[in-house]
Amino acid sequence: MARVHLLRRKSTLALRQRKLALLRMLPLPPQAIRASVVERFGTCGKANCACHQGQKHGPYYYLTQCLAPGRMQKFLLKTPAHQQAARAATSAFNEFYDGLEELSQINTELLRRGEPIDGSKP
Ligand SMILES: [Zn+2]
Repeated sequence: MARVHLLRRKSTLALRQRKLALLRMLPLPPQAIRASVVERFGTCGKANCACHQGQKHGPYYYLTQCLAPGRMQKFLLKTPAHQQAARAATSAFNEFYDGLEELSQINTELLRRGEPIDGSKP
């Protein structure tokens, strides 16, 4: 769920200034990936392995991405560099998305007030 910004009591000037700041700090992040990095531990097929007594194998890290309801993409992140790249990519997406959501809420409030929303000037 998106974070809800409380904007109704803010002045139109304050909204426009925050909008300008968001537009300045939100270049499209080139490495962005909308996904999650998940940690998993598992058991193997060897009957006498310690993993069946609680010492599970892992952690293993996977990137999981929901493309549509019921359509998940998932793959193993094999190396620490691969895992770090995935974390950086998902963080970049989330930060960008949070800023875009805030911009959307500001524009909604400006539209509600009958203010123009197509400009980027305060
Ligand atoms: Zn095992």
